[in-house]
Amino acid sequence: MREFFPTKRDEIILPYWNEKAETMPRAELEALQGSKLRKLADYVYNNVPFYKKKFDELRIKPSDIKSVNDITKLPLTYKTDLRDHYPFGLNAVPMEEIIRIHASSGTTGKPTVVCYTRKDIEDWTELMARTVSAPGITRKDIIQNAYGYGLFTGGLGFHYGAEKVGATVIPISGGNTERQLMIMQDFGSTVLTCTPSYALYIAEYAKQQDIDVSKLSLKIAICGAEPWSDNLRKTIEEELEIDAYDIYGLSEIYGPGVSVECEQKNGMHIWEDFFIVEVLDKRTYEPVEEGEEGVLAFTTLEKTGMPLLRYITYDIATFTKEKCGCGRTCGRMSKVTGRADDMLIVRGINVFPSQIEHVLSSVPGVAGYYQIIIDRDIIDSLLVQVELTPDTFSDQMKVLEKFKKDIELRLYNTLQVKADVDLVSPGTLPRTEGKAKHVVDKRIKNI
Ligand SMILES: [Zn+2]
Repeated sequence: MREFFPTKRDEIILPYWNEKAETMPRAELEALQGSKLRKLADYVYNNVPFYKKKFDELRIKPSDIKSVNDITKLPLTYKTDLRDHYPFGLNAVPMEEIIRIHASSGTTGKPTVVCYTRKDIEDWTELMARTVSAPGITRKDIIQNAYGYGLFTGGLGFHYGAEKVGATVIPISGGNTERQLMIMQDFGSTVLTCTPSYALYIAEYAKQQDIDVSKLSLKIAICGAEPWSDNLRKTIEEELEIDAYDIYGLSEIYGPGVSVECEQKNGMHIWEDFFIVEVLDKRTYEPVEEGEEGVLAFTTLEKTGMPLLRYITYDIATFTKEKCGCGRTCGRMSKVTGRADDMLIVRGINVFPSQIEHVLSSVPGVAGYYQIIIDRDIIDSLLVQVELTPDTFSDQMKVLEKFKKDIELRLYNTLQVKADVDLVSPGTLPRTEGKAKHVVDKRIKNI
């Protein structure tokens, strides 16, 4: 795709961060995965009571795992298992060995928690170093890291990886677009890392402010944390006159850095010496044929704090082991094309409809009917239509306005993303005898 877009990169470079690992022959890679999987089975059996119980129920022993193909004998792990063992019940080490905790939104208001040992942080940093190197970032680059810093893994994940390759990191975090553009101009940022929605917003804002993007030093954006289309990529590339690359990850599996596109922009390379990826049927969770679409499941081969076996991500994608033009031998996943559960990703933040339902159910005067409408103009918008009881609806405008603001604040406190509330009169929202359709995701046409 490179030739279609203007680019400031004067040469196509193929920087491997770890050439040996990234270009290892497949047979060698799979043998390595097999030996790591054997050790992992032993490790979780002896250190995580949850997995010991699962092995015993399935009547398998760690010694049954002899090669990578034996992975299907191992138990699946679901997001609900993390919830059931909240917060630290799946850890394989005592807390004094944990040096960092990250978390993302869960279905019940309790977050999904991930604990990292020093080795895990070092490994994640290595993965992120490979990840930022694949699109061509080097120590000469100045990275404006506009992913959120905090419990969310985006900010710190990029931060450590970019520092490891020796690039200059600006830990600006998300928001304050005017300041983002000022810093971008004054500091000469060559790389922008943020959600694709935010990259687009920055482009729009620059246009409004009459900033000539051709005068910026920016040449690359690495965008992720939400699904995005090739059309959106094209727009970001044209508007900012850069190359934009997709990245994938999830906090349960370290965070960002599970996979990334190389300069070929033809699928995201998964660092398979650290993960075994499986593509499973949406309903049966049986493996599908290579190239077929299914739910991604990851096994972490090196994690020591909270290792996971066959973790069901609910992200739908395809996977190929075909060799890539960049020379890397690790396989590639496609863009995520959908979700197999009801989790929504709004501006990079995980949002569960059940969280919204939970908030609304705690507000007196709400009738119990609601609809969540998500759209994407420049950035994602989240609108919650809330039906009122007849008593509440007859209140004065001023009272209703306060009521609306109160619900918006409660939603923000739970979701950590802004939701607009639209109060509607009794009987307005659709009724159903079957499963209520509470979510209308208008972005699907854009993905
Ligand atoms: Zn490649």
